[in-house]
Amino acid sequence: MSRDRVRIVEVGPRDGLQSRGTELSVDLRIAWIRQLAAAGLREIEAGAFVRADLVPAMATSEDVFRLAADLKVETLWALIPNLRGFQRASDSGAKAFAFFTSASETFSQKNSGCSVEESLVNFREIRQLSEMSPVRAYLSCSFGCPYEQSVEASAVTNLARKLDAAGADEIVISDTIGIADPESVATIIAAVSAEVTASKLTLHLHDTRGSALDCARAGLEAGIGSFDSSAGGLGGCPFAPGAPGNVATEDLVTLFESLGCRTGIDLDQLIHSSLWLEKVLGEQLPAKSLAERRTEPPSDD
Ligand code: MG
Repeated sequence: MSRDRVRIVEVGPRDGLQSRGTELSVDLRIAWIRQLAAAGLREIEAGAFVRADLVPAMATSEDVFRLAADLKVETLWALIPNLRGFQRASDSGAKAFAFFTSASETFSQKNSGCSVEESLVNFREIRQLSEMSPVRAYLSCSFGCPYEQSVEASAVTNLARKLDAAGADEIVISDTIGIADPESVATIIAAVSAEVTASKLTLHLHDTRGSALDCARAGLEAGIGSFDSSAGGLGGCPFAPGAPGNVATEDLVTLFESLGCRTGIDLDQLIHSSLWLEKVLGEQLPAKSLAERRTEPPSDD
């Protein structure tokens, strides 16, 4: 493997927290983001500008972005579903935007409230308004949909090509429900790479079947050098029934470093942060790298 460095985008403070019924306070969200940055994570998705009645855990994202401006984070990504979300994020000081659309028509309707084609119209408008700011586009359900089951590879490649043509800086091939396996990762990445240069692709994995690390390795072998993950393996999706946690950042760092790929992340410091988060949440997180470092179980009360 010739690659000696990989990029990791930490999505825990958004994808990790969003599916939780209980909301973490703004102070705790900021404290976590500060710790992640201190552990060497240069890009962090810090919140979502979505409907608070549908995703209450992200309701205070305005405050998080206003306070996070003082943190030393290279890029703070704001998740936005539409123009209104973009405007709220901009007004809160966000300077990097993560848009989402889907390879599945049903998922787009349920997750974004519009058709895939309508979401592309929204994306083009946001791309124009965001001017020089980086904009990444999640291509949800790239490996399968919780409503439509299988998704055609051509639906993924067509949409990736359209997003690229519309000016996406980065396209995030997302296994929203954790249904990918190493073979499907190799197939989809090869198909999309034929349309969009691999350096613009990121792989976003969830660990439903415990195979996310194998999928990450398959992605690396297929030419991907950029990965999303969530510290501790926290995660889920409020509109993807049964979606488990994202692949754990600790576990990705451990895998990549073992393969000779530097991540720039201090694993000890990251694990320390996730153990703090376990205490805050009062539960054990799924990251494999945490198990051996846990000295006492969190209390249940
Ligand atoms: Mg996700």
